[in-house]
Amino acid sequence: MEGFSTKDIVKKYGFKFTKSLGQNFLIDDTVLMDIVEGAKVNKEDLVIEIGPGVGTLTRELLKKAKRVVSIELDSDLIPILEEELKEFDNFQLIHKDALKVDFNEIIGEEKSVKVVANLPYYVTTPIIAKLLTGNYKFDSLTIMIQKEVAERIAAAPDTKEYGALSILVQYYCDTEIIRKVSPSSFIPQPKVESIVIKLRRLLEPRVKVQDEKLYFTISRDAFNMRRKTLWNALKPLKLEKEKLEQGFADAGIDPKRRGETLSLQEFANLTNSIHKLME
Ligand code: SAM
Repeated sequence: MEGFSTKDIVKKYGFKFTKSLGQNFLIDDTVLMDIVEGAKVNKEDLVIEIGPGVGTLTRELLKKAKRVVSIELDSDLIPILEEELKEFDNFQLIHKDALKVDFNEIIGEEKSVKVVANLPYYVTTPIIAKLLTGNYKFDSLTIMIQKEVAERIAAAPDTKEYGALSILVQYYCDTEIIRKVSPSSFIPQPKVESIVIKLRRLLEPRVKVQDEKLYFTISRDAFNMRRKTLWNALKPLKLEKEKLEQGFADAGIDPKRRGETLSLQEFANLTNSIHKLME
């Protein structure tokens, strides 16, 4: 990949990294290949990439996909990407904050949509939350994220990593760890280890809840006060004592348990019985 390597492009344009934008660019070709293969990108796919940097991963995606739309916030990278990727007529660049993008406008009528990204770590969680809760029709998210965040996403009940983020992601997706990535695979090197994780969107959410907002409120409250019993953690719901008691009894859940011991199904049962009492 002579001439197209991250280091060559950075040098050619005298690009200066902005730490606050989470700019750690990939220099390891094996990681690039594992991301593209892990995402199973093919000629049917519209790929949406968040944060293309100097376009190293973008180039590999463009070779495999029908179309790639990349969203980049840093204005200094826009002319570099336009120049370096000008040979590809299946490439579109959007100069914007990914958190402010309407993904439905990009997706349009496309049937097979994959998000692939080496995400800027300072906005990982808001980006994932936006993509999952925004009702966008994509099949999968194959993303490089900080190792600790990947562990929280994939965590099982009763572990210290299990929390509101595990509930949110597992509600919508199956999770698969593709590989670990060490700091030496980037310039500049981040302080943390990374993981490439694939989130495959389920056709229906994993558990059935009558009120999604209440489901996420209850799970968030439960983890906000991790060391407290569920009974205490759910006080912010401001439900009458008898009703809350009834809700726990109907769901078959002991209010003395701590939230971190509940599975997604148990959170759903509790939400549904509390929801019924609120009607
Ligand atoms: N894809 C490149 C690679 O793998 O080498 C760069 C990845 S780097 C970790 C993250 C990229 O996201 C940077 O190019 C950064 O400028 C961009 N970025 C940061 N915040 C962003 C935001 N809110 N919206 C879109 N892009 C953003």
